[in-house]
Amino acid sequence: MKAVYNFNAGPSALPKEVLERAQQELTNFSNTGMSVMELSHRSKEYESVHQEAIDHLKELLNIPDNYQILLLQGGASLQFAMIPLQLLIKGKIGNYILTGSWSEKALKEAKLIGETFIGGSAKENQYRSIPDLQSLQYNETDAYVHITSNNTIFGTQWHKFPTITHAPLIADMSSDILSRSLNVNQFGIIYAGAQKNLGPSGVTVAIVREDLLEADVSHVPTMLQYKTHASSNSLYNTPPSFSIYMLNQVLRWVKEQGGVETIENRNEAKAKLIYDAIDESNGFYRGHAEEEARSNMNITFNLPSEEDNKAFLAEAKELGFVGLNGHRSVGGCRASAYNAVPVEACEKLRDFMKAFQRKS
Ligand code: PMP
Repeated sequence: MKAVYNFNAGPSALPKEVLERAQQELTNFSNTGMSVMELSHRSKEYESVHQEAIDHLKELLNIPDNYQILLLQGGASLQFAMIPLQLLIKGKIGNYILTGSWSEKALKEAKLIGETFIGGSAKENQYRSIPDLQSLQYNETDAYVHITSNNTIFGTQWHKFPTITHAPLIADMSSDILSRSLNVNQFGIIYAGAQKNLGPSGVTVAIVREDLLEADVSHVPTMLQYKTHASSNSLYNTPPSFSIYMLNQVLRWVKEQGGVETIENRNEAKAKLIYDAIDESNGFYRGHAEEEARSNMNITFNLPSEEDNKAFLAEAKELGFVGLNGHRSVGGCRASAYNAVPVEACEKLRDFMKAFQRKS
């Protein structure tokens, strides 16, 4: 089979070593004579996978003791609703900073539940930037301030976070969790669907500061209360056991690579290869994001015309590059260089971009 360079935006590349290990263990996990998918979620073998995944997250992200790490279902999209369901009580305001389609979707859910406010937005400039920290607006009665740390569709990323004390800062980190070091203390809640940097789809990680678990949630269905999952170590009902097993394998891999800082440096170098190809192209490739807001995860760009975009994507496909189409809502091109995308794939893409430009 010819080489494939996977730049999918999510679900996306998983480390080859992880897939191989999963394959080896598939029919006989931990000498049980069966796969991890077939074990009871109450068995000691499964429980140790579950606990290891939680412990690895705590260690890799330096999560302080006053945070609960929850393994949930429903994707990041369900978190859009769970957050206001817990925290957006009467008299309080859900403050949303809009930096792309996913922040808009988060806001849309909160509007169904309570009062909202837009404390900053980059919509007027087609989400090419991240609002200036000084320009953000807050209210005394903010229940929380919600941001999207990396904007998967537009290719922008917060490189500095707001420091606020009047309300918890909540971040959707679906597309950059574990890609860079983080000060969890700055946040009240961090959440992320797993299917970019953490593993396959099916599990959603929520890191919740313990005081936020004390909210009155008597009106909230049991499964939608963080409390339910926090008090049962995310084993209230059947968890997505295979996804959590894969999450644990990916976390082990990150540790073996040298941890988050090593991964962060590699991600910066990978993104730079592609941004350099854009910057050195004399305007042939036009990046969507403004330079200081560029994402190291999703690199978005356009060629001079729609025809050129099409020709570029078609030729790239022939050469084994997968997933370079921009999101269906915006078009153009997008290379997602998540943790598991090897440096070599980014070098190949850079070489192809240069070669394509030369012959155009
Ligand atoms: N937030 C961001 C930043 C995303 O990139 C995505 C998915 N691409 C979502 C939320 C939605 O995640 P899910 O499909 O897990 O609900």
